[in-house]
Amino acid sequence: MSIAIEHISKTFGNFRALRDVSLTVATGELVALLGPSGSGKTTLLRIVAGLEQPDDGSGTIRFHDEDVVAQDVGDRRVGFVFQHYALFRHMTVFENVAFGLRVRPRAVRPSKIRIAAKVRKLLRLVQLDFLADRYPNQLSGGQRQRVALARALAMEPKVLLLDEPFGALDAKVRRELRGWLRRLHDEIQVTSVFVTHDQEEALELADRVVVMNEGQVEQVGTPDEVFHRPRTRFVVDFLGEVNRFHGRLEDGKIHFATMALDRPDQLGAAAGPAEIFVRPHDVELDVQRNGHPCFPARIAHIHSAGPVVRVQLVASSGEIFNAEMSHERYRSLGIGEGSQVFVTPGEVKVFV
Ligand code: ADP
Ligand code: MG
Repeated sequence: MSIAIEHISKTFGNFRALRDVSLTVATGELVALLGPSGSGKTTLLRIVAGLEQPDDGSGTIRFHDEDVVAQDVGDRRVGFVFQHYALFRHMTVFENVAFGLRVRPRAVRPSKIRIAAKVRKLLRLVQLDFLADRYPNQLSGGQRQRVALARALAMEPKVLLLDEPFGALDAKVRRELRGWLRRLHDEIQVTSVFVTHDQEEALELADRVVVMNEGQVEQVGTPDEVFHRPRTRFVVDFLGEVNRFHGRLEDGKIHFATMALDRPDQLGAAAGPAEIFVRPHDVELDVQRNGHPCFPARIAHIHSAGPVVRVQLVASSGEIFNAEMSHERYRSLGIGEGSQVFVTPGEVKVFV
């Protein structure tokens, strides 16, 4: 089931939470809505679900060519998982998952045996069949979210919507569940929209990422596209750590931090003040000039207790910035706090 969101706006009082948002999600795709808190992700998800109405006459939502704006939540066949697992506390895991099927009108309700078989199958899918008889308060946070997912899937939704489902869990569990959800999605292939403010989660999990900011879509693309070819300053800044330099475009060059680089082609004939972005892993350090354009800097701090070595530097022009390198590279450089180095920016992004 594909989803087409066309020109959707949403106003609360006089606050515009969504501004002319358009987006399509292909059948079987897993799309992440990524943006800071308040950027309109939940509002968009609620409108897709039918829990919220878009502004009058603002646009349409279609599920596989069918306009659903006028349809009730119940008719849209949408499955939900929220950050705060609202499991029924007085029901076992099994009963929680079975609940939606058991309360169906008699005419469409599956038999007891079929319900039980289905619940068992779903619990196997989320790898919790061994906990079927437990109550929610006897589960870990990650297990509860997997039950919530099984419960949503029991209704055979055409579309699955997940709003920061791992938001309340600690970092290690989040990471495990991320991999798990990706594999589960590959198995069941239900069209899914996943909301998160965690860029790592979005980049690792999604087929495509929709970067949102202040109620608007900044960029839509595969994780590689949005990370390596960000189209706006906001996207560069939001997707991972980045160093920012102020500079100028002049005479066919980008001037910043006492150096000049050839301008990237896509900047055309633009001139004037520019912002230059360089990710820490694209900052190359050398103890001598190496023939490439570079600028001098001094090492202020070294943090080597991690998978990569992080170095904080101060450019001779005063900017503070970070570099990342392998432990091997760090050892071969023989640098320490206070060392003078030469800095060659690898990939740079320039916005005029
Ligand atoms: P996100 O999920 O990206 O954090 P939301 O969609 O929840 O953002 O909210 C977007 C903006 O709309 C926020 O500024 C929020 O305060 C506002 N908002 C959301 N729901 C309501 C509401 N029911 N009434 C008034 N303002 C709302
Ligand atoms: Mg939200």
